[in-house]
Amino acid sequence: MDKKNKEVRVRFAPSPTGYLHIGSARTAFFNWLYAKKKAGQFILRIEDTDIARHQEETIDIILNSLKWLGLDWNEGPESGGGYGPYRQSLRLEIYKKYADKLIEEKKAYRCFCSPESLKAERENKKDREVGPGDGKAFKYDRRCFKLSQKSIEANIESGKPFAIRFMVPENEVINFRDTVYGNITINASNIEDFIIIRTNGLPTYNYSVVVDDALMKITHVIRGEDHLSNTPKQILIYRALGFDIPDFTHLPMILGQDGQKLSKRHGSISIEKYIEDGFLKEAILNYLALLGWAYDEKTTTFSIDELIEKFELDSINKKPAKFDYDKLLWVNGYYIRNMENSVLEKLLETQIKKYLASREMSDPESSPGNLQQKIARITPLVKERIKTLKESINLVSPFFIETVYSDQSKNYFKNKNIDALKILNSIYSALDEVDDRFPAKETEGNLRLVAKNLNLNLRKVAEVTRIAIWNSPVSPPLFETMEILGKELTLRRIKDYIKIIS
Ligand code: GLU
Repeated sequence: MDKKNKEVRVRFAPSPTGYLHIGSARTAFFNWLYAKKKAGQFILRIEDTDIARHQEETIDIILNSLKWLGLDWNEGPESGGGYGPYRQSLRLEIYKKYADKLIEEKKAYRCFCSPESLKAERENKKDREVGPGDGKAFKYDRRCFKLSQKSIEANIESGKPFAIRFMVPENEVINFRDTVYGNITINASNIEDFIIIRTNGLPTYNYSVVVDDALMKITHVIRGEDHLSNTPKQILIYRALGFDIPDFTHLPMILGQDGQKLSKRHGSISIEKYIEDGFLKEAILNYLALLGWAYDEKTTTFSIDELIEKFELDSINKKPAKFDYDKLLWVNGYYIRNMENSVLEKLLETQIKKYLASREMSDPESSPGNLQQKIARITPLVKERIKTLKESINLVSPFFIETVYSDQSKNYFKNKNIDALKILNSIYSALDEVDDRFPAKETEGNLRLVAKNLNLNLRKVAEVTRIAIWNSPVSPPLFETMEILGKELTLRRIKDYIKIIS
């Protein structure tokens, strides 16, 4: 089939490092977006041949984060009613088969040189570079390719360990076009015969990635810029095995605001941490899309459907992207503000339950049904005020747990030119007169009167009330808050606080 009409097949191929890095999440998302856009297939492959580092849990973390982001993959070995990802550790036979084929065709050869002796030669060569010597970097001299068939057989028979080296063709020019970085030309003579199967039988990355991408019929390789320099070696392997070469798109690096490689110093770098901190998947995806891609100069918020429609590999910028935590926070707040209340209620409920469980507390006032009702009433009050779900906890926890006044609250009015005690006594009496439903309108009316009688600003009266009922100068809108809190609890807290400052 002509390349243009071929079904688009892309893949995300993480190594299990223990978490899904924000940069890897972007790679996964760009692949997913492209597959959706082209009605193609998105394949997930875990590159887990590095046995020392590979641990089941680290794979689960990555899968869970991808699922949380909604980046569902299309195929793989069936498992538990869905697809498991492909795993390189289960495909070792396949890599061996193709390596044998390369040996047979004299495009690869067994290398019996011990890594230690080669290392010593390499070091020695380096030494000579500073002194006499020819100044050229060490390049393996193919001595094992020159071994006679008889020596090879004898070596194998004696159990001598060997790696398999790819035979880099002489004077071959490697030319490829990267969607982002343009045309790239490399002379193969600069490339040493590199190892494709290690002495322990495991394939190296550059080799297994090609065998897999080819057998999985990947049409577009979209991955981090750090792999641009690996591409020429991979192209040599595609050519040697007679495989179709996919299109390449390397995504620009993600840097911190200071221009350094993105690290923990710049904020959380794992998706798991963002989940924990109460970010929304819509916001994360939207923000990831802006790391290296832009639709125009001004639009910053896109729904997933808009991204699928507007995303183009051609419009990826090769300038490194800068990660801006504050912007991500802004985008998250935007999605919270624009969310259906009923959806936000569910998310807040999860956060609040988690919070109460972590403190081994339950809402002293509420049965689970009441909890939901309460959250439904709270949601519109906090929606405009929070940037993350977790942040909502600070704002609303006094609805659910007893207040334990902080020292800061206890001393809040000390050294302030204000008679908090007198004001609170008036507030107490004024609120006591409001009927039991404690409607916001009435409490507001009565507190306005208090302010008037004491010749104070309503703001001052509200501030005093907040410290007493909320243990903080910041709360959701005061009168609605008191209405939800209820008359009894509101008055009790004012009384408690009066006792403290008396
Ligand atoms: N396992 C490689 C990585 O995590 C994949 C690179 C690729 O996509 O080819 O960097």
